[in-house]
Amino acid sequence: MINSVITQMAEELRKASKVALFSHVSPDGDCIGSMLGIGLALEALGKEVAMFNPDPIPRNLSFLPGVDKITQSMPDPLPETLLFVDCADLQRVQLQREDLPADAVILNLDHHISNQNFGRINWVDSQAAASGELAYALVRRLNVELTQEIAANFYTALLTDTGSFKYANTTAKTHQIAGELIEAGISLGDIHHFVFDQTPMVKLELLRRGLNQLQFFAEGQLGMMTLRKQDFEESGAEESLSEGLIDHARTVEGVEVAVLLKEAKPDVVRVSLRSNRWFDVNRIADGFGGGGHQRAAGCTLHLSLEEAKQKVRQIIEEELKLGRSH
Ligand code: 5GP
Ligand code: MN
Repeated sequence: MINSVITQMAEELRKASKVALFSHVSPDGDCIGSMLGIGLALEALGKEVAMFNPDPIPRNLSFLPGVDKITQSMPDPLPETLLFVDCADLQRVQLQREDLPADAVILNLDHHISNQNFGRINWVDSQAAASGELAYALVRRLNVELTQEIAANFYTALLTDTGSFKYANTTAKTHQIAGELIEAGISLGDIHHFVFDQTPMVKLELLRRGLNQLQFFAEGQLGMMTLRKQDFEESGAEESLSEGLIDHARTVEGVEVAVLLKEAKPDVVRVSLRSNRWFDVNRIADGFGGGGHQRAAGCTLHLSLEEAKQKVRQIIEEELKLGRSH
């Protein structure tokens, strides 16, 4: 089944002379790395490729080969063939179905369990640790040479979505693919250095503020961190620099669920959810119109920061109680 869907997607891409690729808001290493790796491979096949992301590229991903090709303005005119990478639904690219031509060939490559199967061809594998695993298989199927540039992008996709190959989503296959990518000649030391060891000072200031606002509930099983709009403004850190701060709540002894609430605008709160062993955070995010994975999910609430915090806290505390009584 999966084989035939790869074949169909590869066929559609082979037929197309122009392709537009899309990746999600608040981009991460997986969506950007997967999109770039596929984009470079399609260019190698002589296609005209546009790569779109609604938001600026996070600083720690600016080293990725080909990153300058990504644009923040919607390709105009849109080609017929559109490939969405790591996007559970079209809202993740700030689009509605009506924004796209009725006859567009929509290809949907993703690993989110909450994926809405919005494409003509939907290759959704929630067992994959990263969309990068699927992107790698697609490029192999297209018979494109795995250059260092493509491999560095896919490796970064795997590295970031698995938290350096340590989250529960990591499988033997993830490591096998990583092995193939390393054999393509990438510089592991450089990639790890650029992704993880270049913390801007302003991020530390954001962390300092986040730690001041970190609280624990439900007998220490729930850790909640908030960041107000003024914390971003006063620290000088852009929103993407909050990536990873949630781990300061998640990795505390006894914590099962961690939440980071960020005030993007007055009454717009972006919520990141993580769990460690058993709690399904995708269900919580889904209840608020978001989605993701069982161990990592997100949503946006149109409430004040304090109201959003109370609401999310209440539902998670209830679920934690149910979990404990089972
Ligand atoms: P993060 O907390 O890092 O922003 O996101 C965690 C996971 O949840 C990622 O896989 C991300 O794609 C997904 N996610 C975050 N926000 C949303 C949302 O509003 N809708 C959906 N469908 N997925 C989201
Ligand atoms: Mn991903």
